Amino acid sequence: MTMKLGHHIAVKLALVSVLVALVLGLVLGAVQSLVDYRAERERIDQTIESLLQAYEPAAARAIYNLDTLLAEEVTNGLMTYDFVTRSLVVDELGNELASRERSVATRTDPSGMRRLIPTEQSPYSIAINIAGAESTGTLILEIDPLIALEPFVQRSGTGLRLAILRTMMIVAALFLAAHWMVTRPLTILSQRFRDVDPTVETLEALHIPHHKEDELGVLTDSANRFVKTVQNLLVERDRAEKSSQAAYENIRELVDHLPQIIYVVNHEHRLMVVNRAFAALFGRKPTDLDQAPVTSLQGYVSANIWHKLFDPDQLVLAKQEALQIAEQTIVGRDGRERVFECQKFPLDYRGESAVLSVSIDITERRQAAKHIQHLAYHDSLTGLPNRNYLLEHLDQIQAQAADAHEHGALIFVDLDNFKNINDSLGHAAGDFVLCEVSRRLVAHAQDQDTVSRLGSDEFVLCIPNISHRGKEALFHAEFRANVIRELVAAPFWFDNQRLNVTASIGIAVFPDAELAATDLLRNADIAMVTAKNLGKNTCQVFQPSMSEEASRRLALETGLRQAIEENQFFLTYQPQVDVSTGEITGAEVLLRWKHPERGIVSPLEFIPTLESTGLIVQVGRWVLDTACRDLAQWVTDGLWHPGMRLGVNVSARQFAQADFIHQVRHSTEEHGISPSYLDMEITESMLIEQMKETVERMQQLRDYGVFFSIDDFGTGYSSLAYLKRLPIDVIKIDQSFIRDITDDVNDAAIVETILAIARHMKLHTVAEGVETEQQLTFLKANGCQRYQGYYFSRPVVVEDMTALLQNQPVTPHRQTGTTA
Ligand code: C2E
Ligand code: CA
Ligand code: CA
Repeated sequence: MTMKLGHHIAVKLALVSVLVALVLGLVLGAVQSLVDYRAERERIDQTIESLLQAYEPAAARAIYNLDTLLAEEVTNGLMTYDFVTRSLVVDELGNELASRERSVATRTDPSGMRRLIPTEQSPYSIAINIAGAESTGTLILEIDPLIALEPFVQRSGTGLRLAILRTMMIVAALFLAAHWMVTRPLTILSQRFRDVDPTVETLEALHIPHHKEDELGVLTDSANRFVKTVQNLLVERDRAEKSSQAAYENIRELVDHLPQIIYVVNHEHRLMVVNRAFAALFGRKPTDLDQAPVTSLQGYVSANIWHKLFDPDQLVLAKQEALQIAEQTIVGRDGRERVFECQKFPLDYRGESAVLSVSIDITERRQAAKHIQHLAYHDSLTGLPNRNYLLEHLDQIQAQAADAHEHGALIFVDLDNFKNINDSLGHAAGDFVLCEVSRRLVAHAQDQDTVSRLGSDEFVLCIPNISHRGKEALFHAEFRANVIRELVAAPFWFDNQRLNVTASIGIAVFPDAELAATDLLRNADIAMVTAKNLGKNTCQVFQPSMSEEASRRLALETGLRQAIEENQFFLTYQPQVDVSTGEITGAEVLLRWKHPERGIVSPLEFIPTLESTGLIVQVGRWVLDTACRDLAQWVTDGLWHPGMRLGVNVSARQFAQADFIHQVRHSTEEHGISPSYLDMEITESMLIEQMKETVERMQQLRDYGVFFSIDDFGTGYSSLAYLKRLPIDVIKIDQSFIRDITDDVNDAAIVETILAIARHMKLHTVAEGVETEQQLTFLKANGCQRYQGYYFSRPVVVEDMTALLQNQPVTPHRQTGTTA
């Protein structure tokens, strides 16, 4: 930076000095001149006085003698002085004796002094006393003061010039001194100041030579301290800036990695910040989009999407209010449709009004929600609508049917003994059967029908409109139900195994006296349970009487649960007797329920309910354990001998339990009895339904020592040849055949055949329900080995059984079991 000359302190100082010197010089010069002038005038006056005195005697003689010549000599003598302009000698009478004068104007006045000095000068005179005369003559002299003052004027002029010169020299000296001592060091200092680079950490201190001790030195010190402070501040600011920049970079990186779509757009619609997720939406890199106008993204997504994305930003900018978009469906560059939840906030970004937009991908959350919604209304295994779905639609379907005077139907399908499949073949098989049934039902369903799965093995086919006429609708529904029954009954193949599944089906027709959906469904359910109780694999149409049956069953169920809690069960034993000798060869344990109000309730009434509710598992365990306890007592008392058997009824559900073998071992070991005293009575149907696992389990128990008998033989479908492959020792001929053997030729023939084949296959036989001597005679004649029935004894309580055993004739006991 160059400075104008006039701005230099030295120049200013010099100018001020010149001015002050001039003014002072002029004023002081004027005063001095005035004093000098006065003194000069006084000196002139004295000179003239003494001149006049010198010429007085001559003038006095001239006047006295009236000598004009002498008078002229006096005036001439006076005129020799160049400043005298007129000289005059006047006598005592006032007559001019001699006079001389010279013109003033002839003289030049180069210094202009004439204007400054008063030239009007009263003439000088001296009175001349004349001896003897009363009056006096006069010698008069006039002068030109300028000429008189000329030496003074010349002297003053020279003095003035010298004074000016001196002043100038002083000013020059002052200027130089000021320049050297102030201006120059200050210039250097300012130069140094200007060159200071505060970013250089090792900053050189300012230094001005020769001014260490003076004010400039102090100034330099202060400047150095100031610069140091500034530098420290700058370094600190620099560091702060760097660290804030680093922090900013970190945050950017963080934002960049966030899965949310984030961008900041300013009021000019330029992208101030974008993260990777945002850029990816357009198939771009974040760096490509830095400061890019949003319009530049128009080509990368459809116009519709572009507007959807950026139009709301205008709104946020205009209103300066946050905005939330709950759901925004966007198809990105990759073609994937995604759902976002978007939030936009107005903000001040680097001093500019801008919008921050954050979008969270909620596609999966949305799908999960949809899935959950689907799950809430659908069965996860088969994908069929579930109970909720059915119930929610059923009211509407009924109402529509009522409006259209149409009749529809609910067909309630429940698989028979499905639990057994699950328990013995595993869940994969169970699932397979359920899916297959579902497939068959769906294939059967017509356009407007809905197939739903209510729970485990329950399916419902809802047919919304069958016919205007109730009877026709009922007929058609029954027809459809039977078709379904047959569809289910067709064999399933799982793992190269043939599975036979049947279904019990209930039908409820609607509209029915403004029934709620749940009630209608319950009616179909009741009809199904009735079908089940009627022997399964059949269809039943709901009748109001069934409802009573259902509530009876419910009461029974409640009563049974209470019976378990309050130990209302007890056991009875029915002896088994050798047909030829009449000796007791064993017994069958039979469960009894002592109902607090109804008295003794038959197992025929409550066993099916125990089975359907699964309570049989718990009760069956108790039966086995208690029977083993009683048995142990008889063994201890010497009433039970090797070869004798205690028949224990085992239900399918109980047998299918994974820990059934463990239960048997536990009960026998706990009471210390031989497993060979036990005879598990199982039914044919149990064997038919699940083969593989049942057989394995039977074999394991057989290896442990337990025997097996087939209960109610003849009522099922199994052939004897097939049973031979099983570890079975005894067949119990069902009492229905025994009842009429003496009257019914057919029954007699059946029993004869069973006994013949059993003998051939080396299986033991027990005839059940022998009530008469004739029946016993028939059995004896046909080679039946043992029997049980009222003829010998009804089932009796343990004490009575003990008594029966004690009353045995004291003959050595005969082995009646198989050789195993
Ligand atoms: P079941 O195994 O066939 O038992 C024989 C049934 O015939 C018994 O009926 C018995 O009282 C009856 N009975 C015996 N002799 C005669 C006779 O001469 N004439 C007639 N008419 N009936 C006779 P109960 O005790 O009522 O048992 C019915 C069914 O209940 C049993 O049939 C059995 O299947 C089941 N049951 C009984 N106790 C249990 C048990 O502890 N567990 C299981 N799972 N089922 C049991
Ligand atoms: Ca039995
Ligand atoms: Ca039986």
